[in-house]
Amino acid sequence: MAILPVRIYGDPVLRQRAAEVGSFDDSLRRLVADLRDTMHAYHGVGLAATQVGVLLRVAVVHVPLDEEGATFASHALVNPVVVGRSASQVSEEGCLSIPGIFEDVTRALEVRVRYQDPEGREATLDAEGYLARAIQHELDHLDGVLFVDRLSVLKRRFLKRALDALARGELPDGYAPPITQEGTS
Ligand SMILES: [Zn+2]
Repeated sequence: MAILPVRIYGDPVLRQRAAEVGSFDDSLRRLVADLRDTMHAYHGVGLAATQVGVLLRVAVVHVPLDEEGATFASHALVNPVVVGRSASQVSEEGCLSIPGIFEDVTRALEVRVRYQDPEGREATLDAEGYLARAIQHELDHLDGVLFVDRLSVLKRRFLKRALDALARGELPDGYAPPITQEGTS
């Protein structure tokens, strides 16, 4: 297992569409374990394989279910597809690939997701609230979509300078990623 470097806005891999997973083998299980390690090391609530430069339709989420952070919803989603959505919610969102930027994003309040687990078993997940938000955010990554794409034209214009700086490799003050171990898994 390994903590992998999270790719930052401007990296072209973040704009690519990830491919369906066809073989449920040890390398997939290692990818899921690495995604979980990386998500926890970066203190994230979700991570898509795209964000570590792996163009496969795999994402993990780890979302607190209460304000104290005593219980979590943890899922590894392979080939996930949203098959139902209802109502809407607006809440602040950030992204490990876009450090320093947080904005309100409108998402469905409830989603039903069909996916496979890392063993290849078919499953359905009904999610609402924060978990539904995290899942929609991660599934967007698998299509090369970032949360800033979902903001108004005006908001995007307002953020352009900060996004351009990230794309040039200028990270915000205080940005301190964990020590990564790429290649050691
Ligand atoms: Zn993200």
